[in-house]
Amino acid sequence: MNTPPDMLHPELLAADDAHAIYRDGHRLDHAEAASKPLRAQPEPQPRGAKVHGNRPIDQAEAAARFIAAPEHEKMHDERLWDLRQKRDREMRGIAEWEELRSLASAIKEHTLTHLDQYLEQFEANAQSNGIHVHWARDAAEHNQLVHGILRDHGAKSLIKSKSMLTEECGFRHYMASVGIEVIETDLGERIQQLDNEDPSHVVVPAVHKLRTDVAEVFSRTIGTDPANSDVHYLTEAQREATRPLILAADAGMTGCNFAVAETGTFVVCTNEGNADLSANVPKLHIASIGIEKIIPRLEHLAVFVRLLSRSALGSPVTQYTSHFRGPRAGGEMHIVLVDNGRSERLGLEEFWTSLKCIRCGACMNTCPVYRRSGGLSYGATYSGPIGLIIDPTSNAHKYSNLPFASTLNGSCSNVCPVKINIHEQIYAWRRELVKRHEVPFAKRIEMKAAGELLSRPAAYRAAIAAADVALAHLPRFVIYNGLNAWGRHREVPHPPKQTFHSWYQANRGEKQ
Ligand code: SF4
Repeated sequence: MNTPPDMLHPELLAADDAHAIYRDGHRLDHAEAASKPLRAQPEPQPRGAKVHGNRPIDQAEAAARFIAAPEHEKMHDERLWDLRQKRDREMRGIAEWEELRSLASAIKEHTLTHLDQYLEQFEANAQSNGIHVHWARDAAEHNQLVHGILRDHGAKSLIKSKSMLTEECGFRHYMASVGIEVIETDLGERIQQLDNEDPSHVVVPAVHKLRTDVAEVFSRTIGTDPANSDVHYLTEAQREATRPLILAADAGMTGCNFAVAETGTFVVCTNEGNADLSANVPKLHIASIGIEKIIPRLEHLAVFVRLLSRSALGSPVTQYTSHFRGPRAGGEMHIVLVDNGRSERLGLEEFWTSLKCIRCGACMNTCPVYRRSGGLSYGATYSGPIGLIIDPTSNAHKYSNLPFASTLNGSCSNVCPVKINIHEQIYAWRRELVKRHEVPFAKRIEMKAAGELLSRPAAYRAAIAAADVALAHLPRFVIYNGLNAWGRHREVPHPPKQTFHSWYQANRGEKQ
């Protein structure tokens, strides 16, 4: 269904938009546009943040490169805003939406505060269903455990559905180092694997790529025509290339969206049915499950399933909501319950509720910084607003710049289906980073000076008056100096002739 023009974000309706595509008089967003390249010469794909060991990720530098590729930036912004609008439409169709959000948040809060007992209940019930249950303290233990299971079965190839937990564990790289071939079965994730890139979004891993980027990747890796970027052609070619690998794989792996304590079963939601292929084609199925995925009872699932797909993609249901109860006939099923820093985060007073996250990506789709800078600019497994909270808990030094990549507008918290106070936690991380001396010296001095100024109204008004004069008369090199990070990419606006304060004094203030 086409997006009616009045549903589009106003900035997308700019009359001078030379690249807009129309069908039947309606403007199309990129997600629904015709299958043809937008320009004769494809714009090269901007790459993600440069990662140098433990050095702080320079998100602003990577974001600037993404913004400098206008076709990518525009497509990314439009595509994600389109998902946000579809989410809003679905939300408006459910009268009890806010009640569902409150319920989901309360269920998660209850579960996380009784996590030990629900994990033990889940383990006991899964074992009685014939599932082998393992526990992994961290990423290394997870990878070694899975390797051990594969080695015991003589498995050399593994088909896998999308799982952010395995990304967190660096699973593919580890498997490559021990000689086991991993084949991603989610189309977006497979594109990213073939391009040797991480996913840029928790739901749509290759959302930052134009179809011409995908054509380039496929021509290089599976031999498609580099000049043909038709989405049907590319999808069919990938299907033809991947199906034989799926049929020949020795083992299958899935993640998990929800693990139900009372039944010992778990649920995986996909739109491509690839989790079902991964789980059911080979005889050996391994599922990696973060310990925060537990919910107490099956009836709670309905609350989350109604929220997940609507929040993520603005669709009423995922195409496949698959329940896994035990090994297939003649097969074997293993579950690895992974901590990897989660219990430590549970103990952080200001940040523990981030464990409620159901990885819907709605906070990313609505975030103006994320939409314009691309997920790979964050240089971390988790990007966008939720990433700004999660990433520093794993490494506060390396991800010390990320909590500053936010306008704190609160839109992320407003759309979050489990009501995480995301923008407040981002702000709390800024304070925490200052306490831990993880904020650069220049920024600390600037913030301190700004704090002093803003707390003294008379000094503030005098400074504004002086700045007006200075901006009008000082040479450019003085205004656009190295400390003016804002002015690095923008023109400092002309000062208004009258400030709001002086207008208010003149029109509404007490007459003296
Ligand atoms: S923080 Fe909320 S909105 Fe963001 S991905 Fe998690 S559940 Fe979705």
